[in-house]
Parts: sequence; structure tokens; C-alpha cells
Amino acid sequence: MKSIAIRRLCVLPLVILLINSCDIERDATIDPELQPYFDRFVFEADLRGIHVDFDADPISGDIISFDEDNVAGSCTRRASDVDDLRVNTFIWNQANDMEREYIIFHELGHCYLDREHLEARHPNGTCLSIMASGTGSCRQDYNDETRSTYIDELFSR
Ligand SMILES: [Zn+2]
Repeated sequence: MKSIAIRRLCVLPLVILLINSCDIERDATIDPELQPYFDRFVFEADLRGIHVDFDADPISGDIISFDEDNVAGSCTRRASDVDDLRVNTFIWNQANDMEREYIIFHELGHCYLDREHLEARHPNGTCLSIMASGTGSCRQDYNDETRSTYIDELFSR
């Protein structure tokens, strides 16, 4: 059976942080390197009173080569099958822990929370949301001090 697939490409700034086959029912598998960040997403959601259920909405997570070096990740949503979250091995391998968290939280924002990109920015030019595409004009500012505010915003919609 065919289902609707939506693929979003997400470009993240390299300086700071630096697609659809037959739909077959399958188990969601998550690369062990990505699993801790999926777990953090569940944990942070729980802190904010949101129950994340990956059994009800299964998402696979893979680290693969992308054709575009500046694309950090993608999410393919499927109505009747496992969603595919993919991260670019080229960017993943040079990303630190905070940057990896950002990439996974952004992609799960698409895949799990069904959020679109949001390019809005603060008066100082920094992005309002983790859901900024990376191609807009706002500047990403995800760090220890801003992290909790960004995650609040992520789960607020
Ligand atoms: Zn995106």
C-alpha cells in the first residue's frame, strides 16, 4: 500500500554545527549512536509533561551519506509506516554532543512533533526555535545557557 511521504531536508550552519522506496511495514531501528539522543528527547519531553511514545509512532534513525555536505539531517514521514530520520555522516562525525542533540531534536521536531520549519528570530538575530531550517537569516545559538529555553519552545507547540 502506498502512503504519503514527506521528506524535509534540513540545512544547519556548518560553522556552528558546523529518500523513498517501497513502503513495507517494518520494525523501527535506531543506530546505537543516535539512541542516546532519542532517549534525551523522551526525557526532556517528560520533564515538560509530554509523553513520547515511539511504539505508537515508530521512527527509524540512521547515519548515512548525503549527496549534500551541508544538509545535516532529514525526516521522511509516512502515514502507515515507520518514519525515517536520517543524519548526514559527514556532519555527524564532526559534531560535538550539543550539536548532535540539536540535530536529533530538530529532526524529531519534524518526525515526532510534526513541526514545520520556523525562521522567526529574536531582536538580536538569534533563532527563536530549534526548528529554524538553517537556510533562513536567523543565527543558531544553541548552548548550555539557551538549551532549556529552546527545548521549552520545541515542545510548546
Ligand atoms: Zn528541518
